[in-house]
Amino acid sequence: MICEAHYGSRKIPFRLERRKVKSLAISVHPAGLVEVVAPLDADADEIRQRVGRRGRWVLKQQRDFARMLGLPEGRNHRSGESIRYLGRQYRLRIRQGEKDAVRLSRGCLEIVTRPTSHTDRPTRLLAAWLADRARQKLAERFQRCAKHVESFGIKSGPFSLRRMPRRWGSCGKQGRVLLNPALVAASVDCIDYVIIHELCHLRCHHHRPEFYKLLVRILPDWKRRKAKLETSLG
Ligand SMILES: [Zn+2]
Repeated sequence: MICEAHYGSRKIPFRLERRKVKSLAISVHPAGLVEVVAPLDADADEIRQRVGRRGRWVLKQQRDFARMLGLPEGRNHRSGESIRYLGRQYRLRIRQGEKDAVRLSRGCLEIVTRPTSHTDRPTRLLAAWLADRARQKLAERFQRCAKHVESFGIKSGPFSLRRMPRRWGSCGKQGRVLLNPALVAASVDCIDYVIIHELCHLRCHHHRPEFYKLLVRILPDWKRRKAKLETSLG
């Protein structure tokens, strides 16, 4: 169910789902979609007001993700916009067809939706597609990088995806590496740089010279990759 909250003069459309939960939870999807999970008996006006009160936070999340992915902020996608995926720019082409689909072909990212779909359907399909590609691609790169650092005696643990507004990755004290799904916008060499940086933290939990000595040994051109990541997506 699509609802609308207000924050100042801004409208915040959100998708409402009611579930057997105790409290309301608001999340912002990487493509800007706002999802709200509310208790079964929560009052609709009350929900809209609560979302409105978090408006500042919602808009900031949308801006951060839009910047990272090169997506428009808090509105639906249109044909002709460009989308970053694995370091390349793709032109978005939205058309109607018999079946929902997202596919890449010859420099274009094509989104097909059924004629009866809601106007936010292309944005939702794109967000789901990017999230799915992020899961697959980042898992594949993590495996490769884990293998690479293993030859330097670093044993890696699990990794998971987590949206972080200002970070590409992090490494917890328990050895779990977190990667930002928005990294799927970056090229593979930049993705590998972020992963290897975090994997080096499994041995050095700091950024002292010892850490950089290790990093340069494992990834001699890390500075070039970091600069490329910052100029393309920073
Ligand atoms: Zn670090």
